Amino acid sequence: MKYSYCPVCGTILVDKAAGDDGLTPYCEHCDRYWFPTFSDCVIVLVANEYNEIVLAKMPYLSHRYASFISGYMQPGESAEAAAKREVQEELGLSLNRLEYSGTYWFGKNNALMHGFIGKTAKQNLKLSDELASAEWIAAGKAPQFMFPDSPGNAASAVYRNFIQKLSA
Ligand SMILES: [Zn+2]
Repeated sequence: MKYSYCPVCGTILVDKAAGDDGLTPYCEHCDRYWFPTFSDCVIVLVANEYNEIVLAKMPYLSHRYASFISGYMQPGESAEAAAKREVQEELGLSLNRLEYSGTYWFGKNNALMHGFIGKTAKQNLKLSDELASAEWIAAGKAPQFMFPDSPGNAASAVYRNFIQKLSA
């Protein structure tokens, strides 16, 4: 989000040169720059020892397509802690291992997605109320249930990483 007014005092911001960053909204009253802000989210592909992965349906996203577990990071939390927390909250699973898969810009939500691959032993899922459904699916069969691949589709990018590592 690009600021027009100072979030602290409400003064209208002026453009002021900020070194290499160029013209940046600036509050003359508070004497500070307000750089654009965005959200940080995690998205986690959860896999078990049989190379099955969890596909979940979130009612607010789509009834047709399934995706991986995702959620907003909280202030003070690391991306790794957020990934473990979301998987615990939404599926009732604690992860044995967590690998970073990369970051993906999701312009529609003004969010930077931090992708992870999480590993756990196969066990029953305890779904939170946020999920319409979630199940273990053989990794090779997952794409037909997922959102079509497109630029900025973090789930597809994490999935490709996972498949590459399997065949490496
Ligand atoms: Zn101000």
